[in-house]
Amino acid sequence: MTNEKPIVIEDGAIHEFFELSYASYLVLPRSVLQSMPLQWQSKFVKMLAQMEERFGDVPPEGTYYVQLKDEHGHFLHDPLRYYERGRRRIEPILCPLCGRPTVDGNSHSSCVTREQYLADKQAEQAEGNNG
Ligand SMILES: [Zn+2]
Repeated sequence: MTNEKPIVIEDGAIHEFFELSYASYLVLPRSVLQSMPLQWQSKFVKMLAQMEERFGDVPPEGTYYVQLKDEHGHFLHDPLRYYERGRRRIEPILCPLCGRPTVDGNSHSSCVTREQYLADKQAEQAEGNNG
C-alpha cells in the first residue's frame, strides 16, 4: 500500500482525457494495442499491473461485453472484433480530410461535417455572386 493520495472526481489527466463525454469506460481494441511500439506496450502493461495492485480485478465479478454501435445506437460491423490471435498488426491510416490518424481509414465524422459546412458556405457565396 502506498501513501499516494487518490485523485478524485473532477481532477486529473483521466478526467481531462474523457473531456465532456459521459463515457464511463475506456474500450480499446487489442489489435490496436498490439500494434503500438513494444516499449509503449511494456509501459502500458506495467501501468495496468499497478492498477490491478491497487484495485484487484475490475470488475470483481463477471465480464464486460463490447459491441460497436454508431452515434444513433445502431450496431455496426466491427473489423477489430477478432484479434486474430495477436497476428494482426494495424498501421495508422490517415483521415483523407484532416490528415490525423483514423483506425478504419474513413474520414472522421466531424471532418465530413466540417467539409460539408465549408462546401455549403462556398456554394452560398457563389450563389450570392451570381445573383
Ligand atoms: Zn479527419
